[in-house]
Amino acid sequence: SYEREVLTWDLFGRASRELALQVVDSGWLPDVVVAVARGGLVPGGSLAYALGSKGVGTLNVEFYTDIGRTLDDPRVLPPLMDVDDLGGKRVLVVDDVADSGRTLRLVLDMLTGHGADVRSAVLYTKPRSIVKPEYSWRDTDLWITFPWSALPPVTEDRTVF
Ligand code: 5GP
Repeated sequence: SYEREVLTWDLFGRASRELALQVVDSGWLPDVVVAVARGGLVPGGSLAYALGSKGVGTLNVEFYTDIGRTLDDPRVLPPLMDVDDLGGKRVLVVDDVADSGRTLRLVLDMLTGHGADVRSAVLYTKPRSIVKPEYSWRDTDLWITFPWSALPPVTEDRTVF
C-alpha cells in the first residue's frame, strides 16, 4: 500500500482559516467564491465563511474516476452556473488540490475568458501542477485522503463509519 497524506476534519478547520488569512494578507478580496465541485465544495464554503464572502457559485468538473485514473480531459458538467455574471468581478476559484492542475486550468481559462479577475486557492498543490495557485495551504506529492471522501457513501445497511 502507498503512503498517503491524510487530512482530518479537525485539521481541515484550521487549514481553511489559514488559507483565508493568506487571502486577507494579499489585500485582494473576492466578490465571488467559485467552488469546483465536488472536491472544492467543502473548502469553498468554508473559505467563503472565513472571508465573509456572501457571493458563492459552483462549477462541476469531472476528471478523476478513481485513484490515479482520469478521463482523457477534464470536462464541465451540468448544471452550469451563469458565468456571464462574473465579468469585471474578483473571483476566487477554490478546489481541494491542484494535482495535474488541468481542472483548475480549465476553470481559470473559462472565467478569465468571461472577463473576470480570477485567482485560485487550494488546500494542496502537487509539484507537477501546471497551475500554481496564488493561495495554497500545503505541498505534497502523495495521494491525499480528504475527510469528505474518506468513506464510501452511506447505504441502508446502517454502517455509517
Ligand atoms: P487535477 O485536475 O489537478 O489533476 O485534479 C482534479 C481533481 O482530482 C481534484 O480536484 C481532486 O478532486 C481529484 N484529485 C486529484 N488528486 C487527488 C488526491 O491526491 N486525492 C484525492 N482524494 N483527490 C484528488
